Amino acid sequence: MDYKEIINKYTQLQGHKTLQLRAVLFDMDGVLFDSMPFHARAWSKVMTDAGFKFSEEDVYMNEGRTGADTINTASLAQFGKPATQELIDALCKAKCEIFDTYPKTPRMQGALELVKKVKESGLTPMIVTGSGTPTLLGRIQENFPGLFSENHIVTSFNVKRGKPYPDPYLLALEKGGFAPNEAIVIENAPLGVTAGVAAGLFTLAANTGPLNPNVLYNAGANMVFPSVEAIANDWNNLLAALKG
Ligand code: CA
Repeated sequence: MDYKEIINKYTQLQGHKTLQLRAVLFDMDGVLFDSMPFHARAWSKVMTDAGFKFSEEDVYMNEGRTGADTINTASLAQFGKPATQELIDALCKAKCEIFDTYPKTPRMQGALELVKKVKESGLTPMIVTGSGTPTLLGRIQENFPGLFSENHIVTSFNVKRGKPYPDPYLLALEKGGFAPNEAIVIENAPLGVTAGVAAGLFTLAANTGPLNPNVLYNAGANMVFPSVEAIANDWNNLLAALKG
C-alpha cells in the first residue's frame, strides 16, 4: 500500500489541506478485544432459537449496531415488521446470559502494542464502541492500564443513534476537542467503517473476522489490514505518512 497516495486521495476528497493527526479512535470489540467469536456464537444461537435466520456471518455483518437495532433490522427484513419491545428485551437478556457463560475475552493480539505506540507518538487514544456493558470501563483499565482516560471513551450509553450512524464518532471528536482531519478511526466491521467514513474520518480497517476484505473496502475503508498486529508492526511508516 502506498500510504501517502491513499491519504492524499482522502484529503482531496474531504477538502482538507492535510491530515494533522492528534487522535486515534479505536473501536472496541474485534479491535481491542478478541470478543467477536463469542458475540457471534451467542447472537446466532439466540436469534436462531427465536425463529430468525441468523448465521455467525450475519452477526459480523450487523456488528456495531446496538442489540435492539440488530433484532429490529432482522425482523423487518425477515418478517416485514419491527420487533416488539418484549422480544427485544428477551433476546438481549438471553444473549447476555449466554455470553456471560463464555470465558473472559482476551485482548486482541497486537492491540496493547498499538495503543502504547499511539500514546508514545504523542497522540490521544480514544474508544468508540456500540457496547454498553456495566463492566466495560473496568475491563478496559485492566487490559490497557493507564492508556485511555474515562472521558475519552464513548459507549452506547452516550448516543441515541449508534453505528452505522456517524453520531458516536462525532461525539468522540467533540469530547476530545478534535477536528475531523485530526483523527483517524480503526474498525473491524463494515457498519463501523461506514460510521467512521460518515463522520468524515480517515478510516483504517483491521479484518479480524471471517469477512472478505472487499466488504470493508465497499463500506468505505481507506485502508484494510489483515490484523491489528499488522497495523502495530507498520505503525512507524503509517504515522510518518499520516503526519505528512
Ligand atoms: Ca467492532
